[in-house]
Amino acid sequence: MNLVFLGPPGVGKGSLAVRIASEYNLLHISTGDMLRAEIAAGTELGRLAEKYINDGNLVPDSVIIDMLLAKLESESASNGYILDGFPRTLNQARELDKHVRIDAAISLEAPEAVLLDRIANRRVCPACGKGHIAHKMNGRLCDCGAEVVTRDDDKAEVAKARLETHNRLTAPVLDYYKDTGKLISVDANDTMEGVANKVQRILEELGR
Ligand SMILES: [Zn+2]
Repeated sequence: MNLVFLGPPGVGKGSLAVRIASEYNLLHISTGDMLRAEIAAGTELGRLAEKYINDGNLVPDSVIIDMLLAKLESESASNGYILDGFPRTLNQARELDKHVRIDAAISLEAPEAVLLDRIANRRVCPACGKGHIAHKMNGRLCDCGAEVVTRDDDKAEVAKARLETHNRLTAPVLDYYKDTGKLISVDANDTMEGVANKVQRILEELGR
């Protein structure tokens, strides 16, 4: 089963993708992580991507697609995969369809106020990198002893702008998957457990 997970910042897409991938033995591919790993490993595509980034440009779709295809054709993806963070634009969605068969695009949805509230609650430890949720913490210290902070990206105004950019870019992607009959919307204004259960039911339907 080949899936695309779509959803705005704060919707819980990354954690859900990791969980569903492990339950269904699918390869979880976060394109952000993949890009960072290729750059860190100094692969040919990684060096190419780095050059674009260093010049202040976006990494072109063709470079990302080449990295993705190499992963999707590997043994670890033989049972299927979840793409997390890709496609972000209509052009990427179209490019992807030229090379692989996507079975469903799962769109995780929640009201903007809920997303902003979740983002406002995010903290990160500057020492060890661990993520935290403010209202679940006892005080402001990470297990490692350092004081947690709010990432610049998660500050209210930036978060609102990120949501707007996300909506503008992905609206055509959602339309595209709707038109191709692959879009499945999931109400993600729920606990992690609740959302995971909904997605499991959808995948069981799809598997039949
Ligand atoms: Zn820490």
